[in-house]
Amino acid sequence: MTTPYVGRFAPSPTGPLHAGSLAAAVASYLDARVHGGKWLIRIEDIDEGRVVPGAAETILEQLDWLGMHSDGEIVWQSRRKDLYQAARERLAGYVYGCGCNRREIADSRLGVGPDGAAVYPGTCRHGLAPGREARSLRLRVPEAGEDAIGFTDRFAGRQQQRLAIESGDFVLKRADGYWAYQLAVVVDDAEQGVTDIVRGADLLDSTPRQIYLQRLLGVPTPRYLHVPVVRNANGEKLSKQTGALAVQPGPDGNGERAAVAALLDAARFLGLQLAPAAASAPAPLPASLAAFWQQAVPAWARLLAERGAGLPTSAS
Ligand SMILES: [Zn+2]
Repeated sequence: MTTPYVGRFAPSPTGPLHAGSLAAAVASYLDARVHGGKWLIRIEDIDEGRVVPGAAETILEQLDWLGMHSDGEIVWQSRRKDLYQAARERLAGYVYGCGCNRREIADSRLGVGPDGAAVYPGTCRHGLAPGREARSLRLRVPEAGEDAIGFTDRFAGRQQQRLAIESGDFVLKRADGYWAYQLAVVVDDAEQGVTDIVRGADLLDSTPRQIYLQRLLGVPTPRYLHVPVVRNANGEKLSKQTGALAVQPGPDGNGERAAVAALLDAARFLGLQLAPAAASAPAPLPASLAAFWQQAVPAWARLLAERGAGLPTSAS
């Protein structure tokens, strides 16, 4: 018996869904459907300074409009701080207060990790210097030599990161008082019983830190599949700032047509062959939401088979 599949989509409410976040949502939704699993929506509003008022509601309306509904209660990170505090207590022996500011860490010139953050030099590892006060909480990573964390991504293949060299001790609670994304995501995935994470490749570099946290907390490591990040013509990752078009209901009368068009764009980006052409005539593209999803689920299964990215099947 294998554990039943539980997947999720976990957007940050910093703006409406755009082509990039929609592609990740569609991939996670299809993967859950193909495996007969559950698909959950979680609002990652833990970084309250970056939350745009009303954005979470807009995202939920967009998902509803596209025909993607959560198979469970929608969870909001901002309402789960007790869980993050409890996890921090379980990590006690690995957590310490850090008095460094951003400038001091950058000045240490250890370089930046793959996610662009300066590698922390361990300044406060053995206690704060006299007169310094803790600004943030950091998690101790293993010593160099014992710090490699590897995993196999279903799309990206074998990955490995050396935490001591590529990240250093990383932040669990930030100087502004908010819990760090890395802790919240690990706690929530474990608490919600998530078995499969399908998300954008911009989070590939965060995965080893999350696996390290899972090991320290004694929770299972899910399977991972990172889909490519949608970029604009200048090669920049799409975001509100780089002018991504928001996905939204069109004017009255073409709501469903606009929804199908947005989903077809996401499907094309993901490489889905929705209607495999018969030898004689190509099958028509779907005209309704129901028809889209009906074609997209088997198309995702075919894509996984082509890429050898399916899940191990259980011998039941
Ligand atoms: Zn420090």
